[in-house]
Amino acid sequence: MLSANIVALAYLVASVLIILALKGLSSPESSRRGNTFGMVGLVIAVVITLQLSSVQNYTWIFIAIAVGALIGGVAARKIPMTHMPQTVAFMHSLVGLAAVLIAVSAFANPVGYGIADTFGQMHVSSRIELFLGAFIGAITFTASLIAFGKLHGSLSGRPVTFSGQHILNLILGILMIGAGVMFCIDLTWTPFLAMLFVAMLLGVLLIIPIGGADMPVIVSMLNSYSGWAAAGIGFTLGNNMLIVAGALVGSSGAILSYIMCKAMNRSLFHVLLGGFGNHAPVATGGAALEARPFKSGSAEDAAFLLKNARSVVIVPGYGLAVARAQHALKEVVDKLLEQDIQVKFAIHPVAGRMPGHMNVLLAEADVPYDIVHEMDEINPEFGDTDVVLVIGANDVTNPAAKTDPTSPIYGMPILDVSKAAHVLVIKRSLSVGYAGLDNDLFYMDKTMMIFDDAKKACESLIHVLD
Ligand code: NDP
Repeated sequence: MLSANIVALAYLVASVLIILALKGLSSPESSRRGNTFGMVGLVIAVVITLQLSSVQNYTWIFIAIAVGALIGGVAARKIPMTHMPQTVAFMHSLVGLAAVLIAVSAFANPVGYGIADTFGQMHVSSRIELFLGAFIGAITFTASLIAFGKLHGSLSGRPVTFSGQHILNLILGILMIGAGVMFCIDLTWTPFLAMLFVAMLLGVLLIIPIGGADMPVIVSMLNSYSGWAAAGIGFTLGNNMLIVAGALVGSSGAILSYIMCKAMNRSLFHVLLGGFGNHAPVATGGAALEARPFKSGSAEDAAFLLKNARSVVIVPGYGLAVARAQHALKEVVDKLLEQDIQVKFAIHPVAGRMPGHMNVLLAEADVPYDIVHEMDEINPEFGDTDVVLVIGANDVTNPAAKTDPTSPIYGMPILDVSKAAHVLVIKRSLSVGYAGLDNDLFYMDKTMMIFDDAKKACESLIHVLD
């Protein structure tokens, strides 16, 4: 068994590695290094924790690790990149559930967890920590399950709202805190279980009104909650590593949510109260969409415009990920560069289905980082761009965000693609994107629709650009 000083030192090293991991993950260039730091840090944390004197029986731990590793390994190999957001939401729900189960187990056996005095009475600080860890975990658990259902499509992505919703949430919040306070005073199961029940209900009610384009912020908020739940349980278990790692996840998730709210021109407060998504999206059915006039063309028509351009900006979106078209798109880029055409990528902060989704796809295809630009950098350049190639993107280019105050995405910054001289849009139909909204861009005079799967369209372009 290692001395307390060695354990503290090893935990410090692991914490620093996790901080370096977060730093590395903040940019595509350093993200691989960041992942390695994170993995090494977590291995150190687990190995050191396993030899603590409080760990007395390895059999169940190793069985759990083996089962978890098997499920995780198979899932990681099988789950496609496009299903990553719901997978992440599901994993957050497991963190929340783990926090609840540990809280239940610690309350059932406080002496075993070392959180009670010699008479078996739980310390006051431990009662509060247990209350906090348990209710944040319970909210995270059900909220993440609903987010999983919405992202996976098993639940409707539309906001579910009803009158008095905020008042009901407020009453439930007060009831939950009241039950928690009673638990801290009485130390009985009834208020403890009532608090958990109300927290789980609140988790559901907080997420159902969120819909349309606002799920990205919620996914990162739930990431933050799962970190705070872990930190709360770290206090119950008296484990500094869990407190530090949980607090890092909690604060980085909160910062990411803030950045995404800012990028989307939303108030974090309103998103948390379900205010962002509570205008029903005006999704338009296929027939109505087809009724408006639009121009469509072939890969040859698109190649003609591209070949005659001096500057091309490519706007990738979720459809690029669905079609796994990034490698074919990279070949299109190479062809254009060979012909001395300037090519840049424009990345919207919520393009795809998870933060950084497009950056990951482009990095996978070895697209050089220096031609990939964030929205704020590239938006002023669209006016001087000859051709914009929108590929599998929809909501992130929708001018309604600027022009239609009744639109649920009104106020969200978009990529100003309509300022370019020509716009080419590759997608399979005129169908709506995640937010369920028709897109005026598709009907503009300067826009040509290329109706095809993104990968097939790129392969045709490679052929005709020769
Ligand atoms: P959208 O969801 O707005 O649009 C994607 C488009 O891709 C669809 O209109 C679809 O049209 C097209 N498409 C689908 N499959 C293919 C294919 N095989 N080939 C070509 N096109 C295809 O995506 P955006 O990236 O523009 O916007 C992201 C949206 O997702 C935003 O509303 C955002 O808020 C939301 N979101 C983002 C998250 C994040 O963290 N980034 C998380 C959760 C939601 P068609 O069917 O006609 O082909």
